[in-house]
Amino acid sequence: MPADRPISELFAQHRPVRSLEFFPPKDEAQMSSLHGAAASLRRIAPDFVSVTYGAGGTERERTARASAMLKHDFGYTVMPHLTCVGHSRAELECIADDLHGGGFRNIMTLRGDAPLGTGGFQVTPNGLRYASELVELLKTRHADFCLGVAGYPEKHPEARSLEADLENLKRKVDAGASFVTTQLFFDNSVYYRYVEKCRLRGITVPIVPGIMPVLSLKQIKRFTEMCGATLPKELTTRLEVAAEDTDVVEIIGIDWALTQIRGLMANGAPGYHLYIMNRARSALALAAGLAA
Ligand SMILES: Cc1cc2nc3c(=O)[nH]c(=O)nc-3n(C[C@H](O)[C@H](O)[C@H](O)COP(=O)(O)OP(=O)(O)OC[C@H]3O[C@@H](n4cnc5c(N)ncnc54)[C@H](O)[C@@H]3O)c2cc1C
Repeated sequence: MPADRPISELFAQHRPVRSLEFFPPKDEAQMSSLHGAAASLRRIAPDFVSVTYGAGGTERERTARASAMLKHDFGYTVMPHLTCVGHSRAELECIADDLHGGGFRNIMTLRGDAPLGTGGFQVTPNGLRYASELVELLKTRHADFCLGVAGYPEKHPEARSLEADLENLKRKVDAGASFVTTQLFFDNSVYYRYVEKCRLRGITVPIVPGIMPVLSLKQIKRFTEMCGATLPKELTTRLEVAAEDTDVVEIIGIDWALTQIRGLMANGAPGYHLYIMNRARSALALAAGLAA
């Protein structure tokens, strides 16, 4: 299997770059359902797919397995995520070599979060404190890695201010990141303001909006509380009316995401990254809606 193309080449084509995010399956049943979703998503030909990285050992093996499956069985360009949590420098260098040896050239480079209930991020002995350090490590190890990093239009929850967080983003880009993918947001004006602030700070790389089609009010309330994103009143009201009817909730979620993406594309966003929670339906419905 040849090495992947760097995603930065896709952005250089100046057309919308469309990507999908998966999480690693927990068991064989989930692996088989991911396989099914990946098969049906082939027809919308995403430019690349990414696979998140968990905090526990077995979950990490599943990221590697799911990434290999998506690459080998479907020929997707796969961007595995990698975090600093629980790894020493030496381990991270080993993982970098394995990924490079496996033909992966694109990595979403993160600090990561501690497992829930463990009291926040802790630096591992001989490990790294910030994603910018991981960018530096990976680029030093393999200069041909193309690295994405996370951006937070509504500020990372731990950052003392948006300005401080933007300084951090600049550090990640200066260390060698080629593009930024944002945390989810539901109000495009938040993204436009963020991009403007990034440009004023001299961050010139593509800033890809992260969009999540809502699948449940309860779930999205939990996510937004965790990551600090604002849930607009209009969206909440619609979802409250839909209540427990999951089909109606899904329609509302797709409609909202469709409106967001149309606006983003009309205003020059470099593409969009969909947080699809391993479900093909919303991505397929969005692709159909955007084709018209
Ligand atoms: C697109 C995307 C994908 C994600 N995928 C995953 C995943 O697969 N697995 C996972 O566990 N999590 C994932 N996350 C969540 C992410 O790991 C958390 O948000 C985490 O808390 C921060 O990671 P980071 O890479 O942004 O960290 P960093 O960029 O290191 O920032 C962490 C905090 O430290 C601050 N900071 C950074 N540098 C400095 C400095 N030098 N001095 C002072 N403060 C500093 C920042 O402002 C921020 O508050 C993802 C998030 C996004 C947006």
